[in-house]
Amino acid sequence: MKDQWRIETQAVQGNYEPKPTEPRTPAIHQSTTFKYDSAEHMAKLFDLESLDPMYTRISNPTTGAFEEKIAMMEGGVAALATSSGQAATAFAILNICQAGQHVISASTLYGGTYSLFANTLPKLGVNVSFVNPESSLEELRKAFRPETRCVFAETIGNPGLNVLDFEKFDALSKEMGVPLIIDNTFATPYLCRPLDLGANVVIHSATKYIDGHGTAVGGVIVDGGNFDWTNGKYPELTEPDASYHGLRYTEKFANLAYIVKARVQYMRDLGATPAPQNSFLFNHGLTTLPLRMDRHSSNALAVAEYLEQHPAVSWVNYPGLKSHPSYALAQKYLPKGASGVLTFGIKGGRDAGIKFMENCQLIALVVHVGDARSCVLHPASTTHRQLTEEQQIASGVSPDLIRLSIGIEHSADLIADIEHALQASQN
Ligand SMILES: *Cc1c(COP(=O)(O)O)cnc(C)c1O
Repeated sequence: MKDQWRIETQAVQGNYEPKPTEPRTPAIHQSTTFKYDSAEHMAKLFDLESLDPMYTRISNPTTGAFEEKIAMMEGGVAALATSSGQAATAFAILNICQAGQHVISASTLYGGTYSLFANTLPKLGVNVSFVNPESSLEELRKAFRPETRCVFAETIGNPGLNVLDFEKFDALSKEMGVPLIIDNTFATPYLCRPLDLGANVVIHSATKYIDGHGTAVGGVIVDGGNFDWTNGKYPELTEPDASYHGLRYTEKFANLAYIVKARVQYMRDLGATPAPQNSFLFNHGLTTLPLRMDRHSSNALAVAEYLEQHPAVSWVNYPGLKSHPSYALAQKYLPKGASGVLTFGIKGGRDAGIKFMENCQLIALVVHVGDARSCVLHPASTTHRQLTEEQQIASGVSPDLIRLSIGIEHSADLIADIEHALQASQN
């Protein structure tokens, strides 16, 4: 029945039903281990005959409550929470890619993901081809190799804010017989559900909108349970796992094979486990996610429209604006709103950018997005300052670029703050 609920109801009531005298909200099980009475029950846990909690590195009831709710909201079959978004991306890929294998990824990526794909995965023998997501299907096909094991992309690229053409990426991954893995951090399941659009696995940096209040770093992998791992390319899921007495994941766990393997192999061995306290905060954050995403989106659109007519602004990049190259895709895939992040160009370049940032009063200068509180960043003088101007431009950061992560304050107060800072920037 819960699967049939609208996402607003799932967010509030989706995962936890207390019995009489139990706490109304899921408790924080701040415990490393769980007690059992018999050696036999314990043995079942080790043999994966039972998935009851045993040790918090593998699973924990508070983390489980968060996993269950996000899986439901994304329309997936199960989820695995991780200690950061980066860990979620790394596990999602390593779970099905070994040395000698290959990933196709959209080039429009979060900086940390780009670095993981360009530097760290290749050191482990997994090579990544970056493709321009605007290319035609024909062009994209050329990146395919017999050893390709997945396709990766972001729903809304960070920081380019291009919206993914799901139809094209769905066709590409289906043709190649590999899963489509989507980073849905900026859209959240409220604005877009990639699993309904052909994706097979969704990852999030829970640090951003899921938490929503700037309190905890975390991530999550959601399994759509909708990919056929027995197509011959994924022996790690279909052939015996020696570390579990020859268990075959697809045989034992059917459409949960991928996510169970990620938990009992990668989480067991690499251990990027979320703290129960943080899982509590993510679960709590999900409760208000739909409300917040409505406000983030309507505020960002109001700010974008205001900026677009301002004489001190040379360009505005927000997929909810008619002038944006992704506007049609945003209308198609993000009908409820285009989320809270936008970028714009300030007249006067780098110096004006610094002045703008320093004159914002309500909007805080922090390296963060997806917070209830609005944030501003001038990448050329901060996150990208070590790069030359040519390198900055190649990575999509022009000297005049300002990034705003619009919060859930009143839009009139945000616009007044921006107005004041824009004026100060031009003097
Ligand atoms: C922040 C972010 C990440 C990385 O998440 P962390 O929680 O910081 O490790 C991945 N993808 C996107 C789109 C992000 O914005």
